Amino acid sequence: MKRIFLDWASTAPPLSLAVEAQKKAAIELFGNPSSLHGEGRGAKAALEAARSLLAQAAGAQPEEVVFTSGATEANNMVVASILKKQFADPTAKPGRRVVISAIEHASLWEPVQAMKKMGFDVAVCKPDASGIVRPERLRELLDERTVLVVLMLVNNETGAIQPVAECVAAVRDFTGEKGGRIHVHTDAVQAFGKIWFSFPESGADTASLSAHKLGGPRGAGALLVSSKARPAWLFLGGGQEGNRRPGTENLAAVHAFAQSARFRIESLDANHARAVRLMERLIRAARSIPGVLVLPEDRAETGDRRFSPYILSFAVPPVPGEVFVRSLDEQGIAVSTGSACHSSKKDHTRILEAQGVPKAVADSAVRVSIGPETVESEIDAFAAALSETVPLLLRISKPRA
Ligand code: PMP
Repeated sequence: MKRIFLDWASTAPPLSLAVEAQKKAAIELFGNPSSLHGEGRGAKAALEAARSLLAQAAGAQPEEVVFTSGATEANNMVVASILKKQFADPTAKPGRRVVISAIEHASLWEPVQAMKKMGFDVAVCKPDASGIVRPERLRELLDERTVLVVLMLVNNETGAIQPVAECVAAVRDFTGEKGGRIHVHTDAVQAFGKIWFSFPESGADTASLSAHKLGGPRGAGALLVSSKARPAWLFLGGGQEGNRRPGTENLAAVHAFAQSARFRIESLDANHARAVRLMERLIRAARSIPGVLVLPEDRAETGDRRFSPYILSFAVPPVPGEVFVRSLDEQGIAVSTGSACHSSKKDHTRILEAQGVPKAVADSAVRVSIGPETVESEIDAFAAALSETVPLLLRISKPRA
């Protein structure tokens, strides 16, 4: 039986062009880009070509691209930069504020929780009931001690698109009145290559990207850094990546990342239009099954531009999400309970609960995520499996006390 993969938000099946590009570069461009000889110069030229390609795909300048080992590293680099600034400056006042949305990925949420333990004042901005952060609510949390604002572009559990540009405008408006500069970081992992994204238009100081969500290799990503931002880089070493991320570059992976990004951006509009149609089919099918709740409940079946057409969460309370995932897995369908990267079981309902979903419903949440290669017959097979599985699992699941 051919399996059906509907967990693209966790990782995408590799693009053959990425696998080929990585293999070719690993063999033919093995030189160290910092070496002066021909092999080194060839590798350096390929690295810079990849940088230009990736920059173009994100509407950024090549010098704004810092290659990393993935988005987790890129996200942590931003937090580490703020920490370094705080601790390297003896005149810096304690109790600086960080404003973070309640729906961030663990690779930002956890480092910011660590900042709290180090004495930062962390203000959490809750989204509305649709899972969207309102710029006016975010603005209320800013004060003159604020040094960092963190808001993702597309939520990895619900697909809710966040108004990053409007929130950045609110931050700039605030600092315009008060003076100083607040660093704004956006995690663009679930947006890049899927919905339209332009780094300069986001207005953010930094943005994180990940290769494997596009069909590129694991362990490759980037931090986009605006020329206006002034981060303090934590790692020291051989000066690679303009002294911002030292270490011998993973050229083969970076090269494959840039190729995958170009491929996805070139077909973004057509892929997006297809995804919209598939998502409509998916939501309609899910809603037609008694007991299934689409999350958030106000997500429209058609034309709801507030959400990425690649991600959908639903719940069948009181069936635990995990039971659902295992049952579908046995039927050859891969879906997930929220993000694959929850650092702890305790945290796994944080995002849905922040938008007012009751814990009992959030415990039951299942995420379905599609990609450019998902086909209609897979959605239909999933819908058929769902309509058989839901009544069965509802019969055997007792409501929680
Ligand atoms: N941010 C978001 C929104 C993600 O979905 C993920 C992947 N689960 C990451 C960051 C981490 O990316 P990476 O696997 O490249 O470290």
